[in-house]
Amino acid sequence: MKETVTYQEDKFTKARNLMVRVQIIDRGITDPLVLNAMKNVPRHLFVPQEYVSEAYEDGPLPIGYGQTISQPYIVAYMTEVADPDSTKKALEIGTGSGYQAAVLAEIVNKVYTIEIVPELAKEAAERLEKLGYRNVKVKYGDGYAGWKEYAPFDIIIITAAAEQIPQPLIDQLAENGKLVIPIGYANAVQELMLLEKKKGSITKTRLLSVRFVPFRHS
Ligand code: SAH
Repeated sequence: MKETVTYQEDKFTKARNLMVRVQIIDRGITDPLVLNAMKNVPRHLFVPQEYVSEAYEDGPLPIGYGQTISQPYIVAYMTEVADPDSTKKALEIGTGSGYQAAVLAEIVNKVYTIEIVPELAKEAAERLEKLGYRNVKVKYGDGYAGWKEYAPFDIIIITAAAEQIPQPLIDQLAENGKLVIPIGYANAVQELMLLEKKKGSITKTRLLSVRFVPFRHS
C-alpha cells in the first residue's frame, strides 16, 4: 500500500516539474520564488477527483458551481507580476479551489481570500487547512468591498473578470502595492491589467488577453 502511495506521489511530482519547465519557465517566468511555489503546491489536490489525471495539463479545469481553477501559466504569471516576497500581505478575490491562494501563501507572509460561492469557500478553507497553509484566511462573501479589517494590501489579485475595477479594492491597495485584475465582459476575451499605486496615484498597464469567469456583484 505504502509503495503505491509513494509511486503516485512520485508521478505527480514528475508531472509538476514538467509543467513548471514546459508551461512556466519556457514561457518566460523567471522569479525563483514563483517557480519554487509552482513546484511545491500539489495542484492535483485542488481539482475534483475526476480531473486529477489532467491536473498538470496546460489549461483551466472545472471545479464545480460553474467555476474553474485557472491555467497554471496564468496563475504563475499573475503571481510574478504582483511581485511577491515574504514581507508582503496579499488579498485574493475569487478563492475558487484555493490554488492561487496556496501559491501566494508559499511566498508571502499572509494571504486573505474571499469567495462568493459558500460551498467553494468552505471546501477551499478545509483543503488549505489540511495541506498545512496556516497563513491563509478564507472568507465567504462578495469580494467587491475587499476586506477592510486587514487593509491595506501590498498585493491584490482578482481571479474573476470585472467590467470595472471595484473602487474599494483600489482604496485598499497599499502604497507601492500592485493589483492584478482581468477587465472585460463575461464570455469574451478580457485584458489582464496591472495597477500600481505610487504616492497615492494609480498607473495602469495592459498585460495580456485572458479569459476568466465573471466577477459577480450582488
Ligand atoms: N483563484 C481560483 C480560481 C477562481 S475562478 C483558483 O485558484 O482556483 C473565480 C472565482 O471567483 C469563482 O470561484 C467565483 O465564484 C469567484 N467570484 C466571482 N465573483 C466574486 C466576488 N464578487 N467575490 C468573491 N468571489 C467571486
